[in-house]
Order: sequence, then structure tokens, then C-alpha cells
Amino acid sequence: MTLYLVGTPIGNLEDMTFRAVRILKEVDLIACEDTRVTGKLTHHYGIDTPLKSYHEHNKDKMTEQLVEKLQEGLSIALVSDAGLPLISDPGYELVNAVRKAGLQVETVPGPNAALTALMTSGLSSYSFLFSGFLPRKDNEKTSKLSSLMKEPHSIILYESPYRVKDTLQTIQKIDENRIVSLGRELTKRFEQVVTAPVTELLSQLEEHIPLKGEFVIVIDGQYEMMEEERWWATLSINAHVEHYIK
Ligand code: SAM
Repeated sequence: MTLYLVGTPIGNLEDMTFRAVRILKEVDLIACEDTRVTGKLTHHYGIDTPLKSYHEHNKDKMTEQLVEKLQEGLSIALVSDAGLPLISDPGYELVNAVRKAGLQVETVPGPNAALTALMTSGLSSYSFLFSGFLPRKDNEKTSKLSSLMKEPHSIILYESPYRVKDTLQTIQKIDENRIVSLGRELTKRFEQVVTAPVTELLSQLEEHIPLKGEFVIVIDGQYEMMEEERWWATLSINAHVEHYIK
């Protein structure tokens, strides 16, 4: 039967779609990262489908089991703790295995922190590059950021509250004038989206932007042309990407 990849809210429970609720009610099994986290969501929507954990540490074993269940005719939904499964979350190996087995995969789209931050940032959304979490080691992080910051695309990163200050300082060392947007607690009660040159952003940290909660960093792309030419540049970048996809 079908594997459904179901998007769930990134903080605001009103962001659940009607289709997501229906599918989670109809499937035989919900595979999720943490049964306690998804249990709260399913309880809220009156969904009593059994939950099974599928996470980074058991995904190899579970992939095999879930493919077998699909082959037996069960339908399964995959969700993550929040947002879209597979996006900086487990699931890719499962989708790959399910498709290789000739079984059906359907996505039920929903909220995503990266796109929510980009859309709210005011930075160019014509062309962007999502790079998930940066490496933790200082030298690897600096080298990754230096290379990303040469790209003529908006760069979207996920970051923990414990490392966000250090990451902004590394961005500042590479280019102190770069415009950066910090999206904090998106869709939640204390949502903040601040877009400013990185040096100014750093001066607002702690006092105006508490280092608590969840963060997305969006870095302006490196554009070599004048502002009025940027529009054309992003158009030609898009044309290139479109060509590549075809
Ligand atoms: N799959 C999720 C998605 O579609 O957005 C992302 C999962 S990833 C493990 C978790 C990271 O996403 C957090 O560390 C944070 O960087 C970002 N994130 C998730 N929810 C967020 C929110 N409400 N506000 C800001 N960032 C968020």
C-alpha cells in the first residue's frame, strides 16, 4: 500500500491541514521520531492510530520492517517531531527503499521552518540554498560557511540556541556587512524575525533577541551586481536551475 509523508505544525497547532488529520486517522500505522511528541499531536486531533518509533538510531532496522508491512498491504504515515519529515529529519532512506520496492509514496505537504523563515525574511526568495545544520567543529563550520557565502543565493540554515551566537560571529568574520535574517520561534507565540547586517544583529542578541527557542538563519546571497540588476540576475539563475531540473 502507500507510504504517506505527512507535514505537521512547527509550533502552531492551527497549522495542521485537514488532509493531514484525515490521512493520520486512516492509515494503519504512524511512524514517528518520538512517540511522546507525536502522541500529544494525535491526542489533540482525536487520532488513535498506533504509533511506532522511526528515528536516526533504528532507521535501518525499521526501514526493512516498514517496507514489509507496506508489502503486506498496510498503509503507513511518516511524520517527524515537527514540520516536514526528511527535511533535516529521518525518512530519506525509507522513501528510497519504498520506491525501490515499487510501492507508492505520497506527500501531504505542510509547514516547514526553512521556508517560513525565508518567506518572512525579506531576502531574495527567487533562488535559495538550504544547507540544514552546519558542522559542529569550528574549522569545518568556518570552511562550510565561507563556501556557502560565495553563492549568489539566499542561504538557509538551521541552528540551535546554544550555537547561534557563535555562528553569527563566524559569519561576521567572513563578511561583517552581510545581511542576515534570524527567525526565532516561528509560528509560535514569541515569534521574532529580525533582518539586519550581521554586526547589528549580534548587537541585538540576548537583550532584544533571547537565545532561547528554535532558530533559522537566512544569509543574503553574494550578489556582485547593483540592486536594480539583481532582479535580472535572479531570473537568469532560475532559468539555469530550471534547465538543470529538466
Ligand atoms: N523537519 C523540520 C522542518 O520541516 O522544518 C526541521 C527539523 S530540524 C531537526 C529542527 C530545526 O528546525 C530546529 O533546530 C530549528 O533550527 C528549526 N525549527 C523547527 N521549528 C522551528 C520554529 N518554530 N522556529 C524556528 N526554527 C525552527
